[in-house]
Amino acid sequence: MQESVLLNFFTKYCVVLVCLCGVHLVVALFFYLTESPIKFTYYRKIKLDPDIFSSQSHRTAALGIHDNGTEAEVNKLLYGDVIKDDVDEEPLEPCPETSPLLVGPMRVDFSEPVNLDMVREENPQLEMGGRYKPSDCVALQKVAIIIPFRNRGEHLKYWLHYLHPILKRQQLDYGIYVIQQDGEGTFNRAKLLNVGYVEALKEYDYDCFIFSDVDIIPMDDRNTYKCSSQPRHLSVSMDKFGFRLPYKQYFGGVSAMSKEQFQKINGFPNNYWGWGGEDDDIFNRLVFRGMKISRPSGDIGKCRMIRHSRDKKNEPNPQRFKRIAHTRQTMNTDGIKSLSYKVVDIDIDLLYTQITVDIGKP
Ligand code: BGC
Repeated sequence: MQESVLLNFFTKYCVVLVCLCGVHLVVALFFYLTESPIKFTYYRKIKLDPDIFSSQSHRTAALGIHDNGTEAEVNKLLYGDVIKDDVDEEPLEPCPETSPLLVGPMRVDFSEPVNLDMVREENPQLEMGGRYKPSDCVALQKVAIIIPFRNRGEHLKYWLHYLHPILKRQQLDYGIYVIQQDGEGTFNRAKLLNVGYVEALKEYDYDCFIFSDVDIIPMDDRNTYKCSSQPRHLSVSMDKFGFRLPYKQYFGGVSAMSKEQFQKINGFPNNYWGWGGEDDDIFNRLVFRGMKISRPSGDIGKCRMIRHSRDKKNEPNPQRFKRIAHTRQTMNTDGIKSLSYKVVDIDIDLLYTQITVDIGKP
């Protein structure tokens, strides 16, 4: 008797449990079907296992897109509806060689703090990741702008505030990549730039790369952030150096290189830890591969540098002179071909893509 009461109770309990599971399943299915798989807010943050987050297919997988999705599908999910499938739209003309939107000399000052929410509001045409392309013509170049970075949040704010409007006026198809060195080890600018080159190419078929320090702002938008038939040095007339080149071979600050030019020199050296010398090594590489540096005029190439004290763990590299003297011997083995690193984190903001990387130690 007591057994059958118990059995009865358990049967009822099981029925209720099964019903609850069913309701739960229906509700879950409802939300699954109505919610989009990816929703980028202004600050969509993707944190992943560094070991697996190292290629486009892994990014794609991480974002819940099937591995065999087309590039267009991936881009559409990543950057919104920038790539249109419509075939009946009039094809756009190429943008003019010189943009009609340029204004020339601009006032640049760092006295007022910058608020990133305001910068986001001022740039509603941007796509996630700091991506933009003109809507009324086809940009002449696809430009990845790469910024080596660590602990310079305030400078980045000024950079984004000034540069987005300039780059838009220059009618470029561009994306901003902030490459942040993970940890507190000695800084390595050139290696971070190599990482930026590789990572940007995983996202889009860029043909031009701008390598820019985070604290340098151009003072004239005719200084186009574009590539030329020769590698181009853009920060030719900095306030810090009295608006002139500190020396003829100077190639630091902001420079532009096509994919072809970059590959011809095996990218940048990976073994300059600490401040100085890596830009001289890059200059040597270009010369040894028969290239010449092109530059804007001193007037158009004016730029301001945000004043700051020396960064910790970026002391002058005492080995730089020895290394610069051996570029010819080292450039074939040390460069983009021998680059190794691990992606730790990717943060896709409206204004930029920030990639945090572990680049090892000296
Ligand atoms: C360093 C460069 C630096 C330049 C200007 C040179 O001595 O080797 O890396 O860009 O000075 O400061």
